[in-house]
Order: sequence, then C-alpha cells, then structure tokens
Amino acid sequence: MQGQEKAKPPLPGGGASPFYTPLTRGVGGVGFQGGGMTSGAAFSTAPWWAGSPAQHRQKGFSLILERIPVGPFQVNSYVVGCEETKEGAYIDPGAEVERVIAAAHGHGLNLTKIIGTHAHIDHAEGVAEAKEKLRVPYWLHEAELFNLRDIPNAARGYGFPEPPVPEVDAHLVPGDTILVGNLEFEIRLTDGHAPGNVTLYRPGDENGAGHAIVGDALFAGSIGRTDLYMGDGGVLLNSIRTQLLTLPDDTVVHPGHGPETTIGHEKATNPFCQPGAEQFLI
Ligand SMILES: [Zn+2]
Ligand SMILES: [Zn+2]
Repeated sequence: MQGQEKAKPPLPGGGASPFYTPLTRGVGGVGFQGGGMTSGAAFSTAPWWAGSPAQHRQKGFSLILERIPVGPFQVNSYVVGCEETKEGAYIDPGAEVERVIAAAHGHGLNLTKIIGTHAHIDHAEGVAEAKEKLRVPYWLHEAELFNLRDIPNAARGYGFPEPPVPEVDAHLVPGDTILVGNLEFEIRLTDGHAPGNVTLYRPGDENGAGHAIVGDALFAGSIGRTDLYMGDGGVLLNSIRTQLLTLPDDTVVHPGHGPETTIGHEKATNPFCQPGAEQFLI
C-alpha cells in the first residue's frame, strides 16, 4: 500500500494543483495543498496522495467498490459492481484503462456502463479507449459536454497526445437514479468545480454505511478548484452544504483524487465545510 503511493507524483505543467482549492488564508495563514494542512492540529495532516486504494465489499449490500488511482494526475478511477448480478460500472476513465478493466475482471465483474462524474481531462481522457474496448454506453451530465470537447485542447496544454473525443450515449439527470446491476445510485448535482459534476449516492442500510462518489466536489481536507472555466466557489460551497453535508455522517466519500473519507470527518475537520468558508475561496 504505502509502497505504491509514497511520493507525490509530478504534475504535468507544474504550478498549481489542477484539482484542489488551496487554502490561502484564514487558518493561521498556513500554506495548504490538498488534504494536508501544514499546521493546525484540528485538521488532518495526511497528504492528499497518502492512503491505500480502497476496496469495499459488503455482502448484505452487494456492493463491490475499488478505487484505482491512475496516471500523472492520480485521478481515482472506480470500479463499482453488484455482487449478485456481477454487473459493473467503470467510473471516470482517465489513464491506465487496461489496468482498471483488469481490476474489474479480478472482481469477476462484467462492465456494462461507463459513468463520468464530470469531463475534465483527468476524468475522461480514457473514455474513448474504454468505450472501444468495452463497447458499452458512456453516461455524463450534459453540462459537461464542453469540458469533454475541450479534452484535445487541454491535452495540448499539458503536452500530452490528444485523445479522441468520445460520444456521450446517455445523460445523467440529477434527481434520477442509475442502476449498476441491482444497486441503485441517486444522481445528485454537486456543481461549482465543474457545471455538471455529479455525485453518485447509494444510501446506507442495516448492512452498512452509504457511499458517495463525488468527483472533484469534495476531497479529504479540501474541495475542488473553482477557478477553472465555469467554476464557481459559492456554487460549490452551496452544493457541498446542500447535497453532501446533509448525508449521514457515516457516509463514505469517494473523491476524484486522494483517499476516501466520511461526511462526518469532513464536517468536523475540513475548513471548507465550516460556516463562513467563503473567506477561504480564491
Ligand atoms: Zn480531477
Ligand atoms: Zn475536475
């Protein structure tokens, strides 16, 4: 576990993190990058890249969930599957598509859909390749089409080869649910980092806690960047407060980068989840 992710990977292009909002002031004026406060005992000191890829297997719940950090952006691709039907979904294909598909097969899953939390390059650069290999539909919120179509441009900016822009086959509609085998996930709009960033939420029951796959809305100790095109800090804080912090405290949060956390932990420790967090926005 530690062996795999012991060093922060170099980010293409250098400079600011492509996904986190840095905490610029307000908590002792300390520098802040991702999930790691450099001081401030109340806050987590774990760096955002620490922690082992998570696997969840809850029998009564029939949920298989594996986090697979991939590529130079260390985006979390997720394999989510239904233990009963062995149907699975590939969430956020970035780099290393073959490795994620192999992980799904390792769980005995047949991947039947690709779901995008949003379409920034790190979360969608592998969609065309995954669609070609799996021949399954790609689900995305329609407000993310411009981000999807901007991928070749973004790739040029990072000096990467330009991936083809995939077709979107079905739209994720907030308020609807999406099925992975027998598992039902609520689709919640958690915009502000990107206009169509969605959260997939499976409520808990007597067999275990709920799970929320949140894209780049909320991280362990931080939130998504809001200075990208169509990003909005006020909108993001509102989304987090109304769509995420209202979930039960034991809900496991699976973010687009970094380790998993829980709603209760972020409520207690994440500076962006406190009243008045607007002061931290850039
Ligand atoms: Zn991201
Ligand atoms: Zn993003």
